[in-house]
Amino acid sequence: MKIGVPKEIKKREFRVGMTPSSVREAVRCGHEVVVEKDAGAGIDLTNSDYEAAGATIVGSAEEAFDADLVVKVKEPQLQECAMLKPHQTLFTYLHLAADKPQAEALMKSGCTAIAYETVTGDHGGLPLLRPMSEVAGRMSVQVGAWALEKQQGGRGVLLGGVPGVSAANVVILGGGVSGFNAAQMAVGLHADVELFDLSLKRLEELDALFKNQVQTVFSNPTAVYEAVCRADLVIGAVLVPGAAAPKLVTREMLKDMKKGAVLVDIAIDQGGCFETSRPTTHDDPIYEVEGIVHYCVANMPGAVARTSTFALNNVTLPHVLNLANNGPVEAMRKDPHLRNGLNVMGGKITYEAVARDLGLEY
Ligand code: NAD
Repeated sequence: MKIGVPKEIKKREFRVGMTPSSVREAVRCGHEVVVEKDAGAGIDLTNSDYEAAGATIVGSAEEAFDADLVVKVKEPQLQECAMLKPHQTLFTYLHLAADKPQAEALMKSGCTAIAYETVTGDHGGLPLLRPMSEVAGRMSVQVGAWALEKQQGGRGVLLGGVPGVSAANVVILGGGVSGFNAAQMAVGLHADVELFDLSLKRLEELDALFKNQVQTVFSNPTAVYEAVCRADLVIGAVLVPGAAAPKLVTREMLKDMKKGAVLVDIAIDQGGCFETSRPTTHDDPIYEVEGIVHYCVANMPGAVARTSTFALNNVTLPHVLNLANNGPVEAMRKDPHLRNGLNVMGGKITYEAVARDLGLEY
């Protein structure tokens, strides 16, 4: 099968669908891989790295899209949708539910589009989203530490303190994938960490994992308020599947927080879990409300595009090989989890929730 890897065209997107080692695996299985020139240049994956792995470098997006299977990272832009044909399979993040123009363009193309974000896993959850939550969770402590510096308007507090001076207090709301990873980083930097969740089962697991390095707390409005008032850094990492994030920190509560404390809202892509959150970008990531620094970047993993690319390839490669080795229909028949990723086929939306949200026929 011919596999195409285009260069991402969305502004400030440096990730790439396949790393050279993924290409090598596909070539080893007998497939032909074409990679658009400089597709990985932004993260130091050179054209010669790809050639050494067995890929052919092509000079245009049209040539990279001229393949049976197109592997990307971001949802296709409209000019990319226009290059897709009925016999082709597209494997990438799609996030169609909030993007009717893209959904209609993909339907018009007639292609088979499989979305990373709805592929399921043996142990539940959404395994192709998980690495991005891991990245955002770990990064949240790093950006929180930066925002706590005076230059950014923060309290001027070092997360780990120093001998003779207290460590900072870090409150993490949500102990799922991103919250767990944030806690690991905060513990590693010697901060005092409180980790909140609504699920007692999850709190038990976290308690057993962290032992006495982290205080686990059952999340209720009073406990959250009290913790937020003593916090130097609050990380919002909650998720209620299929719903907007609950607003756990209100505008009123900011007045009772320490001046220069920092809020990092990882859940901003679901509307944010702080009332005063609004999406920001890597170019201008922070703003202040009531003397509290807010960091609300909706695509945190984009800033660490190299790590994110490798993390994503670790989970996508088995599916890419399954699709290439068996063709899309047989691959999805063999793996119902991959079948759950199918969003568009034969000009129709094939994912019920997406069709419902877009008001389209299912
Ligand atoms: P997850 O499902 O693994 O964890 C969410 C946790 O929140 C669960 O353990 C749940 O019990 C808990 N929770 C729900 N309501 C709560 C409440 N009221 N108080 C305390 N805990 C509560 O989710 P995740 O993978 O960690 O993702 C979290 C959010 O981060 C999602 O919205 C996800 O889309 C987002 N995300 C953002 C970025 C970014 O760049 N900003 C990147 C990746 C993921």
